[in-house]
Amino acid sequence: MARSTVASQRQLMEQWRLLDTGYLSAAENMALDDVLLEARAKNLIPNTIRFLRFDPAAVLVGYHQDVKQEVRLEYVEKRGIQVNRRLTGGGAIFFDKDSLGWEIVASKKSISSKNREELFRTMCSGVVHALNALGIRAEFRPKNDIEVNGKKISGTGGTEKGTAFLFQGTLLIDFDVETMVRALRIPIEKLKDRELESAKDRVTWIKRELGFLPTHEELKDALKAGFERTLGIRLKEDGMTPMEERLLKVKLPEFQSEEWIYLDRRPINESAVVRALGKTPGGLVRISLALDRGVRLIKSILITGDFFVFPSRGILDLEAALKFTSCDEESIRGIVTEFFKLNPVEIPWVSPDDLADLIIEATERAEFESRGISIAEANNIYPIGKRIKDLWDYQYDYLLLPYCAKLISCDYRREEGCTRCGGCSIGQAYDEAEAMGIRPITIQSFEHLMDTLHAMKESGAKRFIGCCCEAFYAKHRDEMEETGVPGIIIDIDNTTCYDLGKENEAYAGTFESQTCLKTELVSKVLNIVKKREIVA
Ligand code: SF4
Ligand code: SF4
Repeated sequence: MARSTVASQRQLMEQWRLLDTGYLSAAENMALDDVLLEARAKNLIPNTIRFLRFDPAAVLVGYHQDVKQEVRLEYVEKRGIQVNRRLTGGGAIFFDKDSLGWEIVASKKSISSKNREELFRTMCSGVVHALNALGIRAEFRPKNDIEVNGKKISGTGGTEKGTAFLFQGTLLIDFDVETMVRALRIPIEKLKDRELESAKDRVTWIKRELGFLPTHEELKDALKAGFERTLGIRLKEDGMTPMEERLLKVKLPEFQSEEWIYLDRRPINESAVVRALGKTPGGLVRISLALDRGVRLIKSILITGDFFVFPSRGILDLEAALKFTSCDEESIRGIVTEFFKLNPVEIPWVSPDDLADLIIEATERAEFESRGISIAEANNIYPIGKRIKDLWDYQYDYLLLPYCAKLISCDYRREEGCTRCGGCSIGQAYDEAEAMGIRPITIQSFEHLMDTLHAMKESGAKRFIGCCCEAFYAKHRDEMEETGVPGIIIDIDNTTCYDLGKENEAYAGTFESQTCLKTELVSKVLNIVKKREIVA
């Protein structure tokens, strides 16, 4: 193509602003996101691509996440790492001084797409092109990550306001994995070198891929060219407008406040808070719900997790719609269904039924009290294949126990059996189960669990009680339910393989840390369920 034709085509392309705001604090960066989104929604600024960096380093939780669940606050405080909350959904991220943030703030009509996945793909394409141009073979991985050989190099998320949207991502340049692992609620007491290595296997960064560090200008140029090419735009670098500067000053105190960072919308009376969690295609959803048990009313509800909500405040509106309403199943389902019918709120890959089911499951935990199980204990009991209220009054055949709860040096760690030597929590569970005619089995790996459940089904066994960590339950509830054997799962204590990023070793039966059964709760559950002769 002739040079003049290319030049004239470039002239015809829509011009967007390229805004590089350099190093800012976490609160300034988050407040500026709000400023840009609001100003773009009011048509006061042009479509903008922003590059941002953080000084000091920062941990940013997703809009719908609970800071205390995601961040090791003592550690970040000691290290001078700031904590803040993003406007966008998704999981918590660590932004060190070497990471480069990129974001697109534009009118919705400027980027067309058939669905949300295609939209995410389009907006990530600029970064994929930039990385390819730098010599890194990156690709988009649905729903919202950019990867290099299966390792994440940029995570992304978005939100919207009126006619505008904000889509943003982090690009890892020279990443401090150890600090990330310690800042983001990964237990440090057991962090050995090899555990750090496994966290390093999940992410990658530009210096690691290239073997050298490109300059900030080189990175910016590559990203600029990538966005221009994939969005069909021309980018012209410019600064903030006086209006944006003013608005930033006005908004900053809100983003520096505890109310924003901790988004304090906890249910009021912690002692009566029932919980539920479930993995949906759109992410993990956690429900915390404060009940007025006397009049069976939801006093307040908190819906958190790493899902996305468009617009963000949609989840707050749903929480408000459920407040002071009845705990009855019909009422909860009706309110949730009606809410999504009447409001233009979208939670990609999370259905109204997913939410209603989890809220109902949480309310049903309150009924455990009549069985002598406190609400705090009830929150550690999860159902498989049956409604949580229908777990009792049935005959149970097996008690499935995880090998990770056995003493690491025990000869039975990787074998069936236990001599009840008192060296770990397993012995008591074996004793109590056998006394009740329930057969204990040590589960050695994920395959062993599936084989055991299938064998139970074939032999006519009715139900099982199992112990495993919450993370395993959240991830594998569906597979366990598909075997057709209903059961009760009881959570375990101590650092889990998920905490340490060692789930692959754990599935293979080679996890080398030790967990602990909640023996008191296991005893209570065993005593409640009816005894039954062992099925041969
Ligand atoms: S109680 Fe059983 S599993 Fe635990 S250390 Fe002793 S023999 Fe091993
Ligand atoms: S997933 Fe890991 S921590 Fe959880 S029960 Fe299995 S081995 Fe133990």
